[in-house]
Amino acid sequence: LVSRKKKAEDTVITINGEQVGAGEPSFIFGPCAVESQDQVSKVAEAIGAKGLKMIRGGAYKPRTSPYDFQGLGLEGLKMLKNAADQYNLAVVSEIVTPSHLEAALDYVDVVQVGARNMQNFELLKAVGSINKPVLLKRGMSATIEEFINAAEYIIASGNENIILCERGIRTYEKATRNTLDISAVPILKQETHLPVFVDVTHSTGRRDLLLPAAKAAIAIGADGVMAEVHPDPAVALSDAQQQMDLGQFDEYYDALMKFMKQYEMK
Ligand code: PEP
Ligand code: MN
Repeated sequence: LVSRKKKAEDTVITINGEQVGAGEPSFIFGPCAVESQDQVSKVAEAIGAKGLKMIRGGAYKPRTSPYDFQGLGLEGLKMLKNAADQYNLAVVSEIVTPSHLEAALDYVDVVQVGARNMQNFELLKAVGSINKPVLLKRGMSATIEEFINAAEYIIASGNENIILCERGIRTYEKATRNTLDISAVPILKQETHLPVFVDVTHSTGRRDLLLPAAKAAIAIGADGVMAEVHPDPAVALSDAQQQMDLGQFDEYYDALMKFMKQYEMK
């Protein structure tokens, strides 16, 4: 059902008045994790000031170590929703288990399924039965075929509003956190009718690569870019190395807009 052969035209998903997948790139910015009301409100203000429509922030964090910050859970979602409402933003946040889904839907507009859960089939079926868009991230060791099949689980359960998100895959290369598989974008665009995003933060893991990676993503045909923004990355409780501060975010966004105008992408 996700195949272009089944449906030739692009799926366009309306999120908070923005047409995702309709041609103009969309952007999802926000902190790695929700840490406090003040933190998410500051980021929401910066995003809203640019006229953007979405904010991200993890409240259920799938951390490699059980001793690392695990997220604020439902309290975190309430903070994020609160900040989002203030600046007219839609909330994008990861849900890690079907049991959290129902309560979370009061606060979340786009449900993110993280890389570690790309093949959590019960979660895929659960998000397939809701009436809100799903942002599905590629598993870190998943082939494109497996990625497409994960999306198929969601659509087979009744939800067609799926955004695919390339977030880098595991290779032998150590210069970046993961290896951004940029060619996945046009392949996914050819094979499916779904919007495709690139998460430049988790793929590169390097602040100095966030801009070139986003340019590459847009140039190769991505429908949107995700990147992490935190008011004070140095003290962030997760991904301190790679989040942009608010000043860097301003410069980043300006540079991207300039790039898009230069090549008449906007
Ligand atoms: C995230 O976007 O917060 C995240 C944990 O990313 P990923 O699932 O791609 O590792
Ligand atoms: Mn992160």
